[in-house]
Amino acid sequence: MRSSQAFYLGIAVGGVVVFLYNSLRKKSQYKIYGDVSELIGNTPILRINSLSEETGCEVLAKMEVYEPGGSAKDRVALGIIEDYEKRGLLKKGDVIFEGTSGSTGISLAMLARSRGYEAHICVPDDTSTNKIRLLESLGANVEKVRPASIIDKNHYVNKARSLAEQICNDQDDPRNAVFADQFENEVNWKVHYQTTGPEIYRQCDGSLDAFVTGAGTGGTIAGVGRYLKQKVPNVRIVLADPQGSGLYNSVKYGVMYDSVEKEGSRKRHQVDTVVEGIGLNRRTKNFEAGAMYIDDAFRITDKEAVEMARHLVSKDGLFVGSSSAVNCAAAKKLAEQLGPGHRIVTVICDSGARHLNKFWKITSEDTSGP
Ligand code: PMP
Repeated sequence: MRSSQAFYLGIAVGGVVVFLYNSLRKKSQYKIYGDVSELIGNTPILRINSLSEETGCEVLAKMEVYEPGGSAKDRVALGIIEDYEKRGLLKKGDVIFEGTSGSTGISLAMLARSRGYEAHICVPDDTSTNKIRLLESLGANVEKVRPASIIDKNHYVNKARSLAEQICNDQDDPRNAVFADQFENEVNWKVHYQTTGPEIYRQCDGSLDAFVTGAGTGGTIAGVGRYLKQKVPNVRIVLADPQGSGLYNSVKYGVMYDSVEKEGSRKRHQVDTVVEGIGLNRRTKNFEAGAMYIDDAFRITDKEAVEMARHLVSKDGLFVGSSSAVNCAAAKKLAEQLGPGHRIVTVICDSGARHLNKFWKITSEDTSGP
């Protein structure tokens, strides 16, 4: 081979090597996400150092606050939307209805925008203006409904259901409508069974002693609880319940209502606490799907939740919402009960920023209840 040929061959080989190196490097280093729904799931797990040091257990938190819509409800909203899409019940311009004052509305509104649907969210009319503005900024139609018992047709959940039915039955309206129904729609717990549970199991290398979390719809505890029990039969599944919720008595003693006096009154369907997103005075289908896996429950007072939130921000730099504070307070109690050396997983559900004008406004002296 002549020296000029060798020179050109060298350049060609070098070019191929550089091309392969660059294309491989680009693929391995960067993932370009296709849309907001691709950012959902695979949240990190964080060791909560202060609680771990105080108890001698390893207290870990699944950081659902890092979902694109700011809570685990992104998983549920995506699961419900994809289920309707697969069944051919949603096309562009159709309307998704839900009755919620919480994170599910935010997740549905976010995903509706990215997929070309409308979101119509019914909220109790005492919902904070911040939340209403957040929903509206995400493009949702927000309808304020007078608070009523869940058995009343005017309750915001029932209102959302009947509005969806009205559109479906209206011959002149070309749109279709679906009712997300996070409380009774069993896609909810199944999504946690298929995603959150396996992620926690993998992130713990299959080694954990307990999972503790609250129940708003029951989807998280049912889905994660069922998955973990199947994989790690000795794992303890524990409910973290705020004051005023009936689920604690239901798990501990098989009695639903908080007190006999409340039975029969309209109040029995409301949970009297500053904590938002968790606590129930009825057993939903999603809670029922996991009830048999729940081993124990802790009741957390508002005072304990407020104090835990302040502790986490001052010791760990974690600014959490009210349900996360309840979860962490229960994780600490469970760690003390189990004794040092155990690994306990809980959930940081959302950020304190969503709770600035209620939960983060009060001090533990302002709290009422037991
Ligand atoms: N935390 C927050 C902030 C929530 O909004 C909810 C649900 N409403 C939960 C926790 C409880 O989760 P689940 O509905 O799966 O029981």
